[in-house]
Amino acid sequence: FPRTMASNSGKNASLTPSPDEGIHEEEPVIEEEKARPIQIVVANEDEHSFELDAAALEKILLQDHLKDLNVVVVSVAGAFRKGKSFLLDFMLRYMHNQQSESWMGGDDEPLTGFTWRGGCERETTGIQVWSEVFVVDKPDGSKVAVLLVDTQGAFDSQSTIKDCATVFALSTMTSSIQVYNLTQNIQEDDLQHLQLFTEYGRLAMEEIYLKPFQSLMFLIRDWSYPYEHDYGLEGGNNFLVKRLQVKQHQHEELQNVRKHIHSCFSSIGCFLLPHPGLKVATNPYFDGRLRDIDDDFKRELVKLVPLLLAPDRLVEKEIGGNKVTCRDLLEYFKAYIKIYQGEELPHPKSMLQATAEANNLTAVAGAKDMYSKNMELMCSGDKPYIAPSDLERCHEEFLAHSVRYFRSVKKMGGEEFCQRYQTQLESELAEAYSNFSKHNEGKNIFYAARTPATLFAVMFV
Ligand code: GDP
Ligand code: MG
Repeated sequence: FPRTMASNSGKNASLTPSPDEGIHEEEPVIEEEKARPIQIVVANEDEHSFELDAAALEKILLQDHLKDLNVVVVSVAGAFRKGKSFLLDFMLRYMHNQQSESWMGGDDEPLTGFTWRGGCERETTGIQVWSEVFVVDKPDGSKVAVLLVDTQGAFDSQSTIKDCATVFALSTMTSSIQVYNLTQNIQEDDLQHLQLFTEYGRLAMEEIYLKPFQSLMFLIRDWSYPYEHDYGLEGGNNFLVKRLQVKQHQHEELQNVRKHIHSCFSSIGCFLLPHPGLKVATNPYFDGRLRDIDDDFKRELVKLVPLLLAPDRLVEKEIGGNKVTCRDLLEYFKAYIKIYQGEELPHPKSMLQATAEANNLTAVAGAKDMYSKNMELMCSGDKPYIAPSDLERCHEEFLAHSVRYFRSVKKMGGEEFCQRYQTQLESELAEAYSNFSKHNEGKNIFYAARTPATLFAVMFV
């Protein structure tokens, strides 16, 4: 099919006004600014909060030739040092040379674009976008703007679960396709994280729209079982169907994760990518040139990138069933980040903390139940009035018993955590006692009986 692709090739449009759309390639360049990654969501490491650099995003999305175009947002997310930026740089090459068969470039061209490097330290947490937004003519004649998004800071030692969830949720909410970059396999904890993060996103979105997310592509790097599931999309999808299957005798927890993921995205796929070779993985001097990358990897990469970015594959971002323009996207970013900055959302917690809380809460409930049952034996509705001092003695005994029970239940979270819930239990029991006392007082005929008729009734029941 005929296709043309024009981009503003690194020109900064706020400096290059383009009143006449469609001829951006010939327009005069007043000042050239090199295309580069722009940090638009910045993490504050100390406070674990996030800020949107609205001015930076405005400069990109409100360019005259872009602002009214529907936007396609391709994002890559997942743990750090797993080749996300490396992949995005090949996406950039494709966007720049997609008319050419050899868009991957020459054998000795170093790879540039989003910063990527070896080593085990990560870069800044947050979300980056490529400053150059690509304008693509789709086969149906419409023109769309393609924005590439890189995320950082999932699962490193300086980020909390909340940080990871926020970055992942924000990028999933704002993208038309989220590439979930994993290595070697899909593990159960990868799915659990996905569930937690998408739930965090859904929570924030429900305030605005009911529809959740668009496409999710699991991308498995260093896939080493091609004899079971072949590299590429078909092998990947077969593998994914198996991995996400909800089976009848499966544990409820495993079923729930799977159902949740299915319910969150309108389409889900998986691509299996081979290992790129030892030079890529371990050589500190590797600069991304094709010569150093294994042929298997290149053969699959050449299929993967067009799957995500070919004009006929591009899917416009939709929110609440409506296509989103570049200008709208800016507003969504502003609205979404506000939700995460606010206090209304529950804080996503680590597995340990959530478990510890649940442990303590069930122990509190059990202990309270025990206390109530004991007290009811003494003074429930069908029991006679008992002297307040006796009732108080019972209360003290049952309270001690209940607290002893609470303490004896094995719980995660440590002593301080447990103490907090014990205090909660004690105050709940004090309240229960006050209700039991009032009820008991109500049975005291000398106070309760106000008329001879009730006195009569009370004496002869
Ligand atoms: P990011 O933190 O996820 O953005 O990771 P980078 O793109 O910065 O890459 C981290 C390291 O992984 C670099 O040294 C790359 O050469 C290497 N790398 C890139 N792709 C792959 C891959 O598919 N498999 C392996 N094993 N290493 C890769
Ligand atoms: Mg990176």
